Amino acid sequence: MKFSTKAIHAGQEPDPATGAIMTPIYQTSTFAQAGMGEHKGYEYARTGNPTRTALEQCLAALENGQYGLAFASGLAAESAVLNLLSSGDHMVSCDDLYGGTYRIFERIMSRYQIQTSYVTAGNIEEYEKAIRPNTKLIWLETPTNPLLRLVDIRAVAEIAHRHNILLVVDNTFSSPYFQKPLDLGADIVLHSTTKYINGHSDVIGGALVMNDQKVYEALKFHQNAAGGVPGPFDSWLTLRGIKTLAVRMRQHEENARGVARFLQEHPRVEKLYYPGLASHPDHELAKRQMSGFGGMVSFQFRGKLADVDQVVRRLKVFTFAESLGGVESLVCHPASMTHGSIPKEIREARGVNDTLLRLSIGIEDIEDLLADLEQALA
Ligand SMILES: *Cc1c(COP(=O)(O)O)cnc(C)c1O
Repeated sequence: MKFSTKAIHAGQEPDPATGAIMTPIYQTSTFAQAGMGEHKGYEYARTGNPTRTALEQCLAALENGQYGLAFASGLAAESAVLNLLSSGDHMVSCDDLYGGTYRIFERIMSRYQIQTSYVTAGNIEEYEKAIRPNTKLIWLETPTNPLLRLVDIRAVAEIAHRHNILLVVDNTFSSPYFQKPLDLGADIVLHSTTKYINGHSDVIGGALVMNDQKVYEALKFHQNAAGGVPGPFDSWLTLRGIKTLAVRMRQHEENARGVARFLQEHPRVEKLYYPGLASHPDHELAKRQMSGFGGMVSFQFRGKLADVDQVVRRLKVFTFAESLGGVESLVCHPASMTHGSIPKEIREARGVNDTLLRLSIGIEDIEDLLADLEQALA
């Protein structure tokens, strides 16, 4: 089956009890058992719930993976992956990273003597140089957040596997519609389903998809043992969101291209970041690795911090808020919001300065988005 068919049908049979077309919300904490060891596949809802199972199977299908696991948030999914490590292990990660991911590496994993080395996202040689005898994971985000640089997944997978290291790719920014990291050699794909996958800004959720059975079993063990699972209603909402993922992604991208073209010409834009523009340093890699350029556009405003504050106050169709990937357009100021937990010197060295704005382009009418930007930037 192709992508949209899988989004609508994978893991989702009509309910065997009633024939309901939509997967029911199995709002229950436990399941009746006929006798010792005799049940219908479900015992206790932390371990498994049929609504969550449908979501997990659908997510796996969309990423061309064998196994899917759903979590209560993207960070709960990250936590499960990081629990594959033991004290004294080492990780390599790209430097342009979601702030919350950086925080879990630096403030939680470091307490277990698990150190992370950060390398320049797009510089492949640095990944191999950073590997130590105790390196167990390489962690990538591509496109990166908020600067939308790309990392060659295939090239890093080749390095990781030569050293017997697992490669994790956070695919939140592309969604499986535009990029399938498992097909490019990644071992684990991670999502904050809060973003494009659910797409309606009404659920917090996370997911992992993988092909290796041993890796799956270790992560599934952690999912049950540590318990960061989504409830049946959140699982159902996410499944419902997924059904329109393909049409939404096409519209996000079309609008993002329009916004990028508009901003490219604008005198108040100092620097523009969108991988779909031929001027973007990773445009060729984006064409090779992704089937589309996504719906995120970042730009550096020409002016002072106070002017940036005026811009976000004046925007009316764009809402000033954290997060991304929903049907509505959002604007975010990474330095004070998503990346606020990264020390200023480190953040600025990585190019996330005070006048950078990140746009999550929604699926409203493009004319309204451009008119809103026009009046706010003026
Ligand atoms: C939002 C986000 C996360 C964290 O996910 P939550 O659902 O907020 O816990 C991780 N990675 C990326 C790229 C994100 O945008």
